[in-house]
Amino acid sequence: MSNDYIAIVTGANKGLGFAIVKDLCENFKGTVYLTSRDETRGNEACEILRKLGLKPEYHQLDVSDPQSVQRFASYIQNKRVEILINNAGILFLKDAKEPKLFQAEQTILTNYFALVNFCEAILPCVKEGGKIINVSSSSGHLSRIPSADLRKRFMCENLTLNELNLLMRNYMEAVKNNEEIDEGWGDSPYVISKVGVNAYTFILNRKLSSNGIIVNCVHPGYVMSDMTRGAGNVSPEQAAKLVTEIALNSKTGGLYIWHNGDTVNWNGP
Ligand code: NDP
Repeated sequence: MSNDYIAIVTGANKGLGFAIVKDLCENFKGTVYLTSRDETRGNEACEILRKLGLKPEYHQLDVSDPQSVQRFASYIQNKRVEILINNAGILFLKDAKEPKLFQAEQTILTNYFALVNFCEAILPCVKEGGKIINVSSSSGHLSRIPSADLRKRFMCENLTLNELNLLMRNYMEAVKNNEEIDEGWGDSPYVISKVGVNAYTFILNRKLSSNGIIVNCVHPGYVMSDMTRGAGNVSPEQAAKLVTEIALNSKTGGLYIWHNGDTVNWNGP
């Protein structure tokens, strides 16, 4: 495979993203791009891998910054993206002091809108045989949303990206008006962000499957990373194995894949 065949991992300077890059460097035949919003942290992460004899490439990428996304998209425009792993994400833990609206906006903008915008910017470089994996969470299971009506809207087989974007904006509006509980969204912006990621996965897979492109979302397990302050029951390396395996070998798209490799019914028990 030529060097112009590439794999991209977002948010890869640490945690799960870093472990995925390491695994891909060991198992993917093309060039693996470790990207991070902070250049110093990203370059340091690459250095660790180079000392192990691996050969990641580095590029700055803040998925929330449209200029950074544009720079990266231009940089790779003549390359062929075989694997795109949308991993970058944030979580405000229960003891976070930031105001509720701030938490909700940051979480939805980073985990959902930034992921969608970045992915859409890269799509022209993803060709037949390409794989896109959106790192979701068990929190993205539809059962986490109390309202049956909202669940129905997310699940709709004909849901368009514009309609999904509107739903996500409706959620932020509900939080702004302090109405998210009454409207049945529940109390977790992280849940809504990952439900959005899953819904986007299925929309994108429907759109791209006829072009031979596979799009899946994955719950990586409860990972010992900074996000969980080191709690969790799987190491980033263990969780990365599953993600890499899906990236290299999956034959089917539109799946919500659990940490043990099982496919989960998004709206099921
Ligand atoms: P970490 O907090 O360890 O890593 C998150 C990564 O995302 C960091 O590299 C961070 O960069 C990066 N990031 C955040 N915002 C941006 C942005 N705007 N642009 C680019 N990069 C960004 O978390 P994990 O490794 O645990 O999480 C990875 C993914 O797995 C996330 O999507 C998370 O939601 C998901 N997940 C994690 C679980 C867990 O138990 N840990 C469980 C289920 C899902 P920086 O260092 O600059 O902050």
